[in-house]
Amino acid sequence: MIRRFLYNFFQGRNGFDPIAKLTWVLTFVSLLLSMFGGIFGLVMQALSLVLMIYTCWRICSRNVYKRAAECRRYMDMTYGIRMWFKNLRLRFSQRKEYKFFTCPTCHTLLRVPRGQGKIQITCRKCGNRFSGKT
Ligand SMILES: [Zn+2]
Repeated sequence: MIRRFLYNFFQGRNGFDPIAKLTWVLTFVSLLLSMFGGIFGLVMQALSLVLMIYTCWRICSRNVYKRAAECRRYMDMTYGIRMWFKNLRLRFSQRKEYKFFTCPTCHTLLRVPRGQGKIQITCRKCGNRFSGKT
């Protein structure tokens, strides 16, 4: 019955999108920071309340198109940061088999098998050549 109620409630609503996820995390961060007390703690407490209300409003919002447009803008804005973390994860998981280089001209991430000694690396994007030690 609760499941059905929740299903009906969230039908046609925005739900827990990436922005809601971010503001939800920020809610808890500001709540934690509010424990420092004083004026700073009070400001953080107020901020966490505002963020919590915003998150709930966002999840329950029925203007799905507008929320989706905001979400797209947010994803575009954070693309660089998200790719950086993605590359970091990739580099870490393949660090034993591959050595990673960044092209000095176009900053593309390049992957080269390890154990080849000193080699000439050609960037697959801009064609720039540089040497590196694998
Ligand atoms: Zn390049």
